[in-house]
Amino acid sequence: MIAERPDGKSLLPICTLAAPTHEGTCAWCAAELPARRRTWCSDRCGDTFWTNHWWTLARGAAKRRDKYRCIQCGHKPPTRPSKKATGSHATYLAAMRAWRKTKRTDRLEINHIVPCNGSHGILSCSHHLENLETLCVACHRVHTSAIVRS
Ligand SMILES: [Zn+2]
Ligand SMILES: [Zn+2]
Ligand SMILES: [Zn+2]
Repeated sequence: MIAERPDGKSLLPICTLAAPTHEGTCAWCAAELPARRRTWCSDRCGDTFWTNHWWTLARGAAKRRDKYRCIQCGHKPPTRPSKKATGSHATYLAAMRAWRKTKRTDRLEINHIVPCNGSHGILSCSHHLENLETLCVACHRVHTSAIVRS
C-alpha cells in the first residue's frame, strides 16, 4: 500500500534513489530484512523514503536543509513567535497576528527544480530533496515567470 503510483504500480522500481531490491529485502537499501520487518529494514529507511516522496514531509526537510533561508538571495523571513520568548499570552497573540500578516507576503516557498506537474497530493519522485530548493516569495515569483516566458 505504500509507495504506490496513481496507476497502482509501485514507485520504488522507478525511483533513482532506491536500491534495486528483491523479495525479502529492504525496499529502500536492499539490506536483508530483520524478522518482523516487511518493507523497510529500519525506521530510518522508511523515513528517508517518505521524506523524499511525500510533499508535506519533503517541503519541511528542504527548508531545514536550506536553513530556513532563500537559497538565491539569502533572505530569512521572520520565524513563528514562540510562546516562551514572548512572555504574556496577550503579547504572544499579538506577535502571532503580526507574524501571520507578514507571512502572506514574506515567507519561504519550495520550488521543484524539475516541475512536479501538480503531483503535490501524491507520492512522487519529483519530491526528491535534490529536486527541491527553498526560495523567498520574490525569488520564487521571478523563477516562475521565467518558466512561463521561456
Ligand atoms: Zn533499509
Ligand atoms: Zn530570495
Ligand atoms: Zn523516488
